[in-house]
Amino acid sequence: MLLATFPVGQLQCNCSIIVCPETKEAAVIDPGGDPQEIIDRCEKEGYKIKYLLHTHAHFDHIAGARAVKEKTGAKICLHKEDEWLYNNLNKQGMMFGFRFDEPVPIDHYLQDEEELKVGNVKAKVIFTPGHTPGSSCFSMQEKDSVLFAGDTLFHGSIGRTDLWGGSFEQIIKSIKGRLFELDDSTEVIAGHGPNTSIWNERRENPFVAE
Ligand SMILES: [Zn+2]
Ligand SMILES: [Zn+2]
Repeated sequence: MLLATFPVGQLQCNCSIIVCPETKEAAVIDPGGDPQEIIDRCEKEGYKIKYLLHTHAHFDHIAGARAVKEKTGAKICLHKEDEWLYNNLNKQGMMFGFRFDEPVPIDHYLQDEEELKVGNVKAKVIFTPGHTPGSSCFSMQEKDSVLFAGDTLFHGSIGRTDLWGGSFEQIIKSIKGRLFELDDSTEVIAGHGPNTSIWNERRENPFVAE
């Protein structure tokens, strides 16, 4: 699996491109902004984007989805519990002073434990509600174990739960019950800021350390 992670949009959401090296099929995780940059990066390498995988529907993780979909035909994937947030993209933006294009319909609802195939690479959905009702993480077990954690788990912190539909109890349960089941060696790509590991967060994260 090839992997590139780079910050997009005003809130610098970490967007990732994962690619099957044999088929050049790709998935973009959290196209939260700068859609042209995402398209250019993929076109330059000859990647075919199959899925746009969203960890949740806050605007800083979905605002680029429509433009990438319209250009590439990729499928927009999101957990159903976040659909109401997705449909209110513009209301979300207004609260932070941004304007966005109306969202286009979701193509595929993510399900807990579902495995999505990107060429010969597999991404497994782990449903982790708390930051939002439909928050989900993506786990990849290739040569190394990698987790795309969205805004559920950060280096030394966790996602805020004071926004629409957030739940502190749920996010703690999701992290301890689901993410900490992963191998300690798992590299965690957070929705914002630096990468971390399950090992590190299990020991040092003040919200969830055991
Ligand atoms: Zn968020
Ligand atoms: Zn975010």
